[in-house]
Amino acid sequence: MSAIRHALTIKREDDFAQWYQEVISEAEMAEESGVRGCMVIKPWGYGIWERIQRLMDDRIKAAGVQNCYFPLFIPLSYFAKEAEHVEGFAKEMAVVTHHRLIGDGQGGLVPDPEARLEEPLIVRPTSETVIGAAMARWVQSWRDLPLLTNQWANVVRWEMRTRMFLRTSEFLWQEGHTAHANREDALEETLRALEMYRDFVETELAMPVITGEKPENERFPGAVATYSIEAMMQDGKALQAGTSHYLGTGFAHAAGIQYQDAEGTQQYCHTTSWGTSTRMVGGMIMTHGDDDGLRVPPAVAPHQIVILPMLREKPEDEELLAYCEDLRKELAGRSALGERVRVLLDKRPGKATQKRWAWVKKGVPLILEIGGRDAAGGQVSMLRRDKLWNDAAKANFIGMPKDEFVAMAGAELENIQSALFVEAKAKRDAQLTRVSSFAEVEAFFAEDKRYPGWVEAEWVRPTGNELESVVQKLKALKLTIRNTPLDAEPVAGECIFTGRPAVERIYIARAY
Ligand code: AMP
Repeated sequence: MSAIRHALTIKREDDFAQWYQEVISEAEMAEESGVRGCMVIKPWGYGIWERIQRLMDDRIKAAGVQNCYFPLFIPLSYFAKEAEHVEGFAKEMAVVTHHRLIGDGQGGLVPDPEARLEEPLIVRPTSETVIGAAMARWVQSWRDLPLLTNQWANVVRWEMRTRMFLRTSEFLWQEGHTAHANREDALEETLRALEMYRDFVETELAMPVITGEKPENERFPGAVATYSIEAMMQDGKALQAGTSHYLGTGFAHAAGIQYQDAEGTQQYCHTTSWGTSTRMVGGMIMTHGDDDGLRVPPAVAPHQIVILPMLREKPEDEELLAYCEDLRKELAGRSALGERVRVLLDKRPGKATQKRWAWVKKGVPLILEIGGRDAAGGQVSMLRRDKLWNDAAKANFIGMPKDEFVAMAGAELENIQSALFVEAKAKRDAQLTRVSSFAEVEAFFAEDKRYPGWVEAEWVRPTGNELESVVQKLKALKLTIRNTPLDAEPVAGECIFTGRPAVERIYIARAY
């Protein structure tokens, strides 16, 4: 039996959902607001989001995509032009109908009936329609294509079952929107964005993902094809961590996005859209968190190294602080993962051990504790967050000369970044199981295992009613088809639903 006293009260294996909530509150990432499904993102959570934004934005711009900003409000009529799109989002749209309040005669306020808007405005759940209207103005000839735009914004989808970061009614995201001359170019862009997401999530968030196409029933409303990156959380459930859609010419027809080709003929554009959101923060928590809280991959950690002087409220503190400040400066001049090291000297009053556990719960990759003796001897004491405990169930501090630490700090952060990925990938791969019949799927998920992982099966894409019956059959087991992986091995067996010779692979899982 381990004698470790973990920093959290709830263990992952006891109650994963409660553990997740405890990490968020103990790491001070976010809290509930007065509005159901809307959260307040606190500095540590927002700092991680800012890192995500920054690194993703670099990739978006490197692909020649330009940022724009479009209005929060979209006229209802814009949505009505694309039937499938409006139908898909109707159930979760917030609507503004008035622009003024008046007294109700009892001390309260109510919408002024005289101030009813002529046309209701939708609080954007996504921006294809309003960006489409702008594209129709901006695109005239084939020379204007491709048109590559992105916006960073908040969107609102009135979700029924909400959970911090993973599914909120208001969330922050980036949405890329592009217009192209033909299907091939648009599909190429759809897959380029998907690959950008895979690379981003695997490199920066150290989260292994499977890229693939969503089944027809999971397509974005109005899309011709939807692709996703799917990550496995530590409880074995799937998280759709980003999506990229080929929209065909439907939105171009709805908004009138047309161009004159080289021969002078008017053509409709083929458009794409792709998005990732604050959900990625939740995915990072559920991929790397442990029973002591969060573990933030160094690439997205607001502070990669925190220096904790063991202050004693005595005159000697001054010397200790001067030593720590020198160390901070030296570290801030080093590089890791292609950027300057982000280091914080935590001078706040309080006991160093208490402050240590607060930073452990926040998941700072490297924590340095420096006492008077370390300062006098030119030493540091280093704790790697991903290797928190030693064999004696004690915090695994390693002492070394300061100069040695400064020289190795960048490489150590890079090691942590790759160690987290390797660990997460090993966990994921161990929970992927191949099955060759539907009976095996039932058996796999019927076993009394809380965290069963995913199954990989082979199938023939069903159509119409056939698909609906497959969806229902899976739904009865609380399962969904995650995607058809793009880089799968060739199929060899039979469709698990029909017994016909299989055409492609699919992943089936419980999902967030
Ligand atoms: P979509 O426009 O529906 O393809 O959504 C783009 C991405 O946003 C999805 O792949 C999710 O990662 C994320 N997302 C969708 N709905 C929510 C939500 N309610 N809260 C947080 N993230 C979301």
